[in-house]
Amino acid sequence: MIEKEKPIKLDFKSIYFDLYELSPGIFAVISAEKLPTSNAGFFDLGNYSIIFDTLMDPFSTIDLIKASKQFTNKDPSFVIISHYHLDHVFGTRKFPMNIPIISSYETLLETQETLKTRFQDFKKRAPQELKRTEEALLKEENPDKILELKNDINTWNEIKDPSFTLRLPDFCIKNSITINGSKNQVQILYIGAAHSKGDIIALFEKERICFMGDLLFELTDPSWADPTSDIPKPPNPEHFRDTLLEYAEKDIEIYVPGHGNLCTKKEMRENAEFYDKYYIKRS
Ligand SMILES: [Zn+2]
Repeated sequence: MIEKEKPIKLDFKSIYFDLYELSPGIFAVISAEKLPTSNAGFFDLGNYSIIFDTLMDPFSTIDLIKASKQFTNKDPSFVIISHYHLDHVFGTRKFPMNIPIISSYETLLETQETLKTRFQDFKKRAPQELKRTEEALLKEENPDKILELKNDINTWNEIKDPSFTLRLPDFCIKNSITINGSKNQVQILYIGAAHSKGDIIALFEKERICFMGDLLFELTDPSWADPTSDIPKPPNPEHFRDTLLEYAEKDIEIYVPGHGNLCTKKEMRENAEFYDKYYIKRS
């Protein structure tokens, strides 16, 4: 197997993420260690620029848009959302309405549901959460923690704003599609219920790179499977495991996880084992 050169870390200043060019026009946005949240990506297909997932914090998606414009020399053509969990859809509101959002149909339904339920709860909680975070900030001395708390304050302030909302997906897919750009081609693969009710991943076959969304975490933690844990349980752990094993067998070299650093087949297999052990065998 031909080993690719190490991904190039780009010179882009953001407190939220590190930026890598994995292959010409294929960029991975990897959450910074100081403010660990979710990852994203953006792709220069030549005639199109695609954003793959948005980010959670108020200013992180703004940095993501800035980076994509700087390195692709164009405005985003559309946004693809891997799944509906808030850390991946929260930044959708930062994209103007003329930039379409593409997701699975399940992501549309779940985002609609979130707006009705969890969002109302967030809005209600915002004033007290703001107060609590501001008090914690006064006592905090650890610079990384201070950064995190300031970031939380920005988020709660934004949630408190009466006009604050999420954008819903505009186009929904129930099957896989190929987007054939003038420079790069990407397959948007519909996985269905695995980590969420409807997951999507992005595969660059020729470049042997796959953006896995939350089907892959660099690190897993058995406490997630604990009945008392508030980490959502995967709706279909068998299909989840089988998908990981299937893609681990493919001719792919770099797997971009939804959380954590860039991965290889090793983490794909470890994740498959994790879901097998803690969610399938145990039940
Ligand atoms: Zn996530």
